[in-house]
Amino acid sequence: MKVYMDNGATTRVTEPVYAAMQPYFCEIFGNPSSVHGFGREARKAVEAARAQVAKAIGAEPREIYFTGCGTESDNWALRGAAYANAKKGRHIITTNIEHHAVLHTCRQLEKEGFEVTYLPVDSYGLVTPEQLEAAMRPDTVLVSVMYANNEVGTIEPIPELAAVAKRHGALFHTDAVQAVGHVEIDVKAQNIDMLSLSGHKFHAPKGIGALYVRHGVRLQRLMEGGAQERGQRPGTENLAGIVGLGKAIELATGDIPARAAKMAAIRDHMIERIMNEIPHVQLNGHPTRRMCGNVNVSFYFIESESVLLHLDLRGVAASSGSACTSGSLDPSHVLLAIGVSHEHANGSIRLSLSDENTMEEADYVVDCLVETVAKLRAMSPLYEDFLKGVETVGTDD
Ligand SMILES: *Cc1c(COP(=O)(O)O)cnc(C)c1O
Repeated sequence: MKVYMDNGATTRVTEPVYAAMQPYFCEIFGNPSSVHGFGREARKAVEAARAQVAKAIGAEPREIYFTGCGTESDNWALRGAAYANAKKGRHIITTNIEHHAVLHTCRQLEKEGFEVTYLPVDSYGLVTPEQLEAAMRPDTVLVSVMYANNEVGTIEPIPELAAVAKRHGALFHTDAVQAVGHVEIDVKAQNIDMLSLSGHKFHAPKGIGALYVRHGVRLQRLMEGGAQERGQRPGTENLAGIVGLGKAIELATGDIPARAAKMAAIRDHMIERIMNEIPHVQLNGHPTRRMCGNVNVSFYFIESESVLLHLDLRGVAASSGSACTSGSLDPSHVLLAIGVSHEHANGSIRLSLSDENTMEEADYVVDCLVETVAKLRAMSPLYEDFLKGVETVGTDD
């Protein structure tokens, strides 16, 4: 059996999305900026996709800008807003569990003379409106808090946080790359000024993203060039990618409650079986304010890399909680931020579902985990020490 449970890293392009894109390679290939018929046809497709993206998050089409990826959207929102407002204030607030696309951009802005407050989160990964309220300053121009965490799946109280920023006259950005398609998002009702999304996290191809910028919000552009995207994001549009993004977001946001409920049932079944059938394990993240497809657990006494290797041999794709994107073995900054010890963080894995995973797959993966964890513990010196310790304690009196 082959099971893909690493949808937090990327998803497959589904057949309807692929089919929607196909004409835009060999047949409809004009440059959307060209005024001839070929170009006009391409332009029409770009604008139709812009309307699809806008509708999915409650925005207006003119508020959607296509980008190369979620990382670019995050960079543009943060740097664009920081530079555009530098005269007003140079203070930015974010959290310490953001994706590196946000965290590393903030680090860079600090080098450029901006001041950044990194709000700590609680043991579930939550940041509260009260915390944000206390951190707001007269020179705070921008607040950026992710909608849902990519590692532990915690869903932040975005409308409440955005309301605090608004009350203080600061811009509110959210990295919603993991949330789109799984959580109902309405940028107007939720007071969101900027929102990043990325196609490949919801069955569109890699290399296409978008940034929503509320009408009236001024951002400095990051690149110079042509007049594409209303002069704000130059570069000939990724025509087929944009068409795919439009189709995929329409499908992903079509019936969120039903699909999220189905995914959550599979998620909860997996969590329950893991907690019941594997000793010395902990669930990371929030028990209920949790992405419908996220399972993140720490197995004590063993290394996640060994677990992943064994799962891979049995056809199961998952990722380590440590998310060593750079190949470094540093434990995840998210797990450390929620108070997981270095040792337990090293034994963490993330299983991330899509709406295509089944209960049968879930059972197969848990069966594999039960066997794998037992096998690895039988060879683990840490586990051996632990058992000795238990014996010693038991024979003390
Ligand atoms: C994947 C991801 C990104 C980066 O998106 P790319 O399109 O891969 O650049 C940013 N933020 C979060 C929360 C993500 O999960």
